[in-house]
Amino acid sequence: MTDSPIRDENSKAEGSRALNFIEEIVEENLREGKNDSRVHTRFPPEPNGYLHIGHAKSICLNFGLAQRYGGKTNLRFDDTNPTKEDVEYVDSIKEDVRWLGFSWDDREFYASDYFEQLYNWAEKLILDGKAYVDDQPAEEISKQRGTVTTPGVESPFRNRSIDENLTLFRRMKAGEFAEGSCVLRAKIDMAHVNMFFRDPILYRISFTPHHRTGTKWCIYPMYDYAHGQSDYLEGITHSICTLEFEVHRPLYDWFLDQLTTTAYRPRQIEFARLNLTYTMMSKRKLLELVKNNYVKGWDDPRMPTISGLRRRGYTPESIRSFADRIGVARRDNIIDVSLLEFSVREDLNKKANRALAVLNPVKLVLTNYPEGVTEMLTAINNPENPEAGSREIPFSRELYIEREDFMEVPPKKFFRLFPDGEVRLKYGYIIKCDEVVKDENGEILEIRCTCDMDSKTGGLTANRKIKGTIHWVSAKDAIDLEVRLFDRLFKTPDPEDYPEGGDWKDNLNPESLKVITVKGEPSLRSATVLSHFQFERIGYFNVDPDTTAENIVFNRTVSLKDTWQKVAQNEG
Ligand code: ATP
Ligand code: MG
Repeated sequence: MTDSPIRDENSKAEGSRALNFIEEIVEENLREGKNDSRVHTRFPPEPNGYLHIGHAKSICLNFGLAQRYGGKTNLRFDDTNPTKEDVEYVDSIKEDVRWLGFSWDDREFYASDYFEQLYNWAEKLILDGKAYVDDQPAEEISKQRGTVTTPGVESPFRNRSIDENLTLFRRMKAGEFAEGSCVLRAKIDMAHVNMFFRDPILYRISFTPHHRTGTKWCIYPMYDYAHGQSDYLEGITHSICTLEFEVHRPLYDWFLDQLTTTAYRPRQIEFARLNLTYTMMSKRKLLELVKNNYVKGWDDPRMPTISGLRRRGYTPESIRSFADRIGVARRDNIIDVSLLEFSVREDLNKKANRALAVLNPVKLVLTNYPEGVTEMLTAINNPENPEAGSREIPFSRELYIEREDFMEVPPKKFFRLFPDGEVRLKYGYIIKCDEVVKDENGEILEIRCTCDMDSKTGGLTANRKIKGTIHWVSAKDAIDLEVRLFDRLFKTPDPEDYPEGGDWKDNLNPESLKVITVKGEPSLRSATVLSHFQFERIGYFNVDPDTTAENIVFNRTVSLKDTWQKVAQNEG
């Protein structure tokens, strides 16, 4: 498919992939000249928790569409429920959207900005005989809704006069009634095939102070009543939401039909929410994990929150490319979390400087190497990025290598170290294993080797063919690092899949965090917080904000091994 002339010139980066179904709708609307051929989207979080990777998909979609078509995106806080909302969440949401690389310029809006207008519109509905005050408790109202196959029951308060409704609604607003004592409902059709048309609730009473409007209001609009009209007031053209709102769409349009007369009209479009294996995506449940200390906070690196991913070492680019890769679907699906891991690996491969660290050290002594000598070897910082340059790392007679890189009785194709075998030390010499020293339990204390002194880069025997290369650190120069190894937070691909009588929290992985002390090359002492590294042959790590002068803490972002390719091959 070639680039359409209606697409923004600046968005060539996305190449020539086929349009997704939302882009097709947008392009059709642009061709028709609908809404003056504007594209204006919004991201509408409720400030009742931190954003997660599912929200990131929605952010990328909304901001991405506007960028592609030269439009705008608003950030709108859907703050209609003071009992669950907080400024802490507002602030974190803004930080996360910004960090992902998107800007709403000065278009930071709140549904609460529209409380006055929404209230006036509610009075209009009353005056038009399309809304009434119902004095029944919420449970009663919900019982009367009926089912998909049976009609609902009309409220005994449904036929109150317009005057009475107006007076009662004004008294509700004035704070004269207790919470839960009455609600305002639309008067539509209790037998409607669409359950959402069975006199939906428009307003309820709450005396909880609101984080922005304080105690000015004690009645709050429901989502369905607030959302479409907020879109309308902001001039939104494409109101993108997740599939569960498909059944709400006729109601979204109904309110606009009743309350507005202009040709301009926002259009609700639904797409499939992101589901990821091994990942909990419900804000309510993530809040429970935080509140009950199953994790160490919203930004715990095991959390699927944007702040957790950031702390874990994910980059904004990796999350955006993940969102691009998964695309936009019309039907629910589940994405393998290893695709997310693939995306960060791919990005960090280009960006992260390399370093040597040994996670499970065993001592290695080069018996023919002079004692007391420290030699500096040159190591390349990033083979993928020549501009990253090189650094010097100390080498000496005593080293640490990974315990797993040595085997006394090696299996076939073990291209690492074993008795009488040779291996190359990364950036250094070729060595040969002569002897293994063990303690009385058979545990290896030390591996003794000889060093081919001519084999380092540029040396006479440097180009000898040696199958394996292993990493190392100089024992006397290495520094201790705290390393946090994360595993999946849940044991099961679907965290909600628990046996009868169980609980989703039973699926939490008790081994999702393992803390170890490792040996790292000395240059890591000056690593700055949140900077990324590839520990060669091991994985990607970043410096955790818990780092102090005495204790340098690294998080494992992701291991080097790519399980996604395997998954893709099996599926493909
Ligand atoms: P809730 O409404 O239950 O508190 P929510 O996850 O829908 O939770 P919102 O703050 O309403 O939270 O979400 C903001 C926007 O992000 C909405 O437009 C919503 O559709 C979208 N969104 C939420 N979860 C996902 C997801 N898993 N995948 C894609 N988009 C999502
Ligand atoms: Mg929602």
